[in-house]
Amino acid sequence: MKNPQDTGPHPEQPDIRSRELPSSSMPASFTIPPFLLNELVNFAHDAILVHDLERHIIFWNEGAEHLYGWTAQEALNKITHTLLQTHFPISPDALNHTLEQHGQWEGNLIHLRRDGAQVIVESRQVLVRDEEGRPSAILEINRDITERHRLEQLEEEARAEREARLNVLQLVLDRLPGGIFLVQGPHLCLLMANQAATALWGAEWQRGQPEEEFFQQQGIQRFTMNGQLLPRDEWVARQAMASGEPAHQQLVLSYPDGTHQPVLVEALPLANLSLLSRLPQEMAALLPPAAPVVLIVYRDVSTLKEAEKLKDQFISLATHELLTPVTVIAGYADRLLSHSAQKHEHQLDEWQHEKVQEIKQAAWQLTSLTENLLDVTRMQAGLFELEQRPTDLLVLTRRVIKRLQTTTTLHQLNFQTTLAHLWAMVDVLRTEQVLSNLLSNAIKYSPRGGPIEVILEADQRTREARFQIHDQGMGIPLDQQAHLFGRFARAENVRAAGIRGTGLGLYLCRELIERQGGHISFESAEGAGSTFFFSLPYQEIET
Ligand code: ADP
Repeated sequence: MKNPQDTGPHPEQPDIRSRELPSSSMPASFTIPPFLLNELVNFAHDAILVHDLERHIIFWNEGAEHLYGWTAQEALNKITHTLLQTHFPISPDALNHTLEQHGQWEGNLIHLRRDGAQVIVESRQVLVRDEEGRPSAILEINRDITERHRLEQLEEEARAEREARLNVLQLVLDRLPGGIFLVQGPHLCLLMANQAATALWGAEWQRGQPEEEFFQQQGIQRFTMNGQLLPRDEWVARQAMASGEPAHQQLVLSYPDGTHQPVLVEALPLANLSLLSRLPQEMAALLPPAAPVVLIVYRDVSTLKEAEKLKDQFISLATHELLTPVTVIAGYADRLLSHSAQKHEHQLDEWQHEKVQEIKQAAWQLTSLTENLLDVTRMQAGLFELEQRPTDLLVLTRRVIKRLQTTTTLHQLNFQTTLAHLWAMVDVLRTEQVLSNLLSNAIKYSPRGGPIEVILEADQRTREARFQIHDQGMGIPLDQQAHLFGRFARAENVRAAGIRGTGLGLYLCRELIERQGGHISFESAEGAGSTFFFSLPYQEIET
């Protein structure tokens, strides 16, 4: 066989119109008549060509006329590759070789139409042999795939762009120090993670793997800061997924080798980003469409915790050292005052009496501050214990109100309850501390005076004793309310008013109430007073 690009007519041109189809492809009795065969070949949308062995065109159907723009008359006897300026995917020799060896060849070719436009065709070529088995012609069927090819190319470009963007995103994520994960759907299947993430777990969390399965495999557990195993529904990623709101959480990760790591976790829902459309197909296929996506960031706070521990140790040491001399000062001031009151000959002058009172007052303030600081450090170190015993909360409340009433003439402390007794298992001193703290705040932050209401009720459905402490004082600005239960937190308005405090009282109140199974909260607006609420579980009620 000659090279397809050679020219020159073939002496004998087989007449395709009179060729019979192999008898095996139809009932033995039926032979397609030549006129019908011609109709059939012209009926096809594909371009059907027959060449002689030198690639001269000897048949050109209507499909070919339509596709390439030349009539059969114009095309006949022309060399196909010259007429159509064919671009071959392999060399013409290799194509001929395949035809000789295997009797057929399939592949894509690029042709030029009569109007100069380029067409891409899916070409099938078959070597036709005569009765003695000698090659006699080549049958070629070309299907126009120009549009399909264009769409495929667009899709490929879009895919490459998506991949490039993801690679950039991955690069950026890998440079960030915290462990970053993108998870999706109710099982929190992994979509993407950065390098720090692998370092965090010490193992690779596979794409598409549900989070719980990975944690179980690796033996990693999550604990709350109070040392309890984190309940499934309290996991911040689940909460963010369910609420659609960002959330954060402090946790301790526990590894099978016995090591622990404190982490700060932030979860950011990305439900509206329709991220799936930007992910590679194989990833998108892993997940149900439209399942919400959450970005989880783990930050190792071990060094922060270590610094906090050192600071707590220092405070603990300093306050211990402070407590002894301050108690001595307060004690002597007290003795001086009582001695002067008893013995007329050693009576203090009025100004001396006043100054010793001030010393005593300042010393007791210092004692209460150091005691609060000690409580905080004990709580942080896990050394804090409660002594719970059956206590009548009404008796306790009256006692505290009576004591606090002696500290002010500007305020009227009122107690409202319909109960006769309310018994609860509480630590008496610590519960008095909470009530006393909230009442002295109500007094302190109502500098113009006014009534202060204490209400005690029993919620029989939840078996909770509910306290309310209501004042008509300066209130708390809305934008500063969120942090007030934190350590050393104080609102700007009280600082501006020059009212002194440490910002430890509410922190201790919350700890003391929650450690006894209760809750604490407040409602307030600047200039409109405040109401503090707290609850404690009760045992028995008498009305
Ligand atoms: P301290 O009173 O020593 O500053 P607390 O922890 O008891 O510390 O209170 C924290 C802050 O909460 C206060 O500094 C104040 O800004 C605000 N606060 C607490 N109780 C009241 C109240 N009854 N009225 C107005 N502000 C209050």
